[in-house]
Amino acid sequence: MSSHCDGDSNPTGSSLKIPEIKFTKLFINGEFVDSVSGKTLDTFDPRTGEVIAKISLGDAEDVNLAVKAARHAFDHGPWPRMSGFERGMIMMKFADLIQENAEEIAALDTVNGGKLFIFCKLIDITTASRTLRYYAGAADKIHGTVLKLSKGLQGYTLKEPIGVVGSIIPWNFPTAMFFMKTAPALAAGCTIILKPAEQTPLSALYYAHLAKLAGVPDGVLNVVNGYGCTTGAAISSHMDIDKVTFTGSTEVGRKIMMAAAASNLKPVSLELGGKSPMLIFDDADIDQAADIAFRGMFFNKGEICVASSRVFVQEDIYEKLEKKLVEKAKATVVGDPFDPKVHQGPQDDMTIAKEEIFGPVLCLMKFKTMEEAIERANITAYGLAAGIITKNLNVANTVSRSIRAGVIWINCYTVFDMDCPYGGYKMSGFGRDFGLEALDQYLQTKSVVTPVHNSPWY
Ligand code: NAD
Repeated sequence: MSSHCDGDSNPTGSSLKIPEIKFTKLFINGEFVDSVSGKTLDTFDPRTGEVIAKISLGDAEDVNLAVKAARHAFDHGPWPRMSGFERGMIMMKFADLIQENAEEIAALDTVNGGKLFIFCKLIDITTASRTLRYYAGAADKIHGTVLKLSKGLQGYTLKEPIGVVGSIIPWNFPTAMFFMKTAPALAAGCTIILKPAEQTPLSALYYAHLAKLAGVPDGVLNVVNGYGCTTGAAISSHMDIDKVTFTGSTEVGRKIMMAAAASNLKPVSLELGGKSPMLIFDDADIDQAADIAFRGMFFNKGEICVASSRVFVQEDIYEKLEKKLVEKAKATVVGDPFDPKVHQGPQDDMTIAKEEIFGPVLCLMKFKTMEEAIERANITAYGLAAGIITKNLNVANTVSRSIRAGVIWINCYTVFDMDCPYGGYKMSGFGRDFGLEALDQYLQTKSVVTPVHNSPWY
């Protein structure tokens, strides 16, 4: 997909079915509003390039309004002050509403991102509601520790919400990303300004509507559409945003970190690109290995940051595996993502020459020894994920400890669970989504110290 900063092409007409698009404005302080400039952004159906909606286009002025609303909701509103249990109940209701509207939202992500409808409905929407429920359950379990200090002092720590959070997300998983970023922040008691990718704003606006219906107070969750170089940059450089969480390319992650440092030194967490290796050893079941390697690369059309784009195969099984993978690639049906017979929806632009292709292109390479495979797997600036396929426990243990990546899948791939922290090593970023580690990123620790009775401080 191309972005504004790259220059977009003109759309053409089509007669394919398009779901109803109900929400097209910015969502600020609990209301859908036009952008201050009145400008709009064309949203395309990637099957045809046809314009399917005109979405209000935010910029720095709209970010200012959203930050003002989020600041007020954080400093004076009920959300950070209510009990974790109450926040959790509202989040549970939000999750129920998502499930009730699953078909409608899945159709929006399909028509907006070219993703398979069935995939959106069964995987993305389920991930969304499960993520909300996971963090809803954690909301009333946020607590500090009691400290027994020296010199007649005692103390305790409080875990407090970090404040106003800016979230910037990419186009490949508009739904899953929305909740990876917002669910832990909501549970912690933060308020949020989220910028969806300019290519895929439709489901984010629908979620803003459902959040309001569920009882999320005004100003807590704001959605500002817009381009990265304007709206995104205004978020990362804003003096009144307390943290930025970002998923996207390494190049943009660097810009965000620099903007955060140059403004109010806000902490950032970055989930960035990858060039993930999969190591297949010669004791592997060939059919199973081919299945895992194929899915590891072609899941979501290859438009997934953990795609196993470098597959290293031990030399004795290389040719058999290569044959199976080619058969699988040839059998892939590309077409209309609403059609249940189709495996892969449309893709717009692919730059094969780029380091990270972010498309369905798999590099198959031979190796002789485990040591060689580890060394070659680690020769990359990235460190997001890796796969290991073997029946040998010693090999699995040794390789999983030797590869510098944030997630290692053994005899499986692209398996996500809300309780499993997810994030990168090296230039794939830092900070974690999912798991209680993600919740921690939206909290800060305050230490409270006081003398005990008969202390020398009295
Ligand atoms: P991108 O970095 O171009 O855009 C991501 C988001 O950042 C968009 O919302 C965009 O508008 C915004 N943005 C762009 N320029 C900005 C700026 N100067 N300041 C602030 N925000 C800005 O990425 P993309 O093309 O949408 O997604 C593809 C990339 O994302 C790939 O590199 C992929 O690996 C990565 N990705 C990583 C993960 C992960 O979990 N690590 C997940 C999905 C995608």
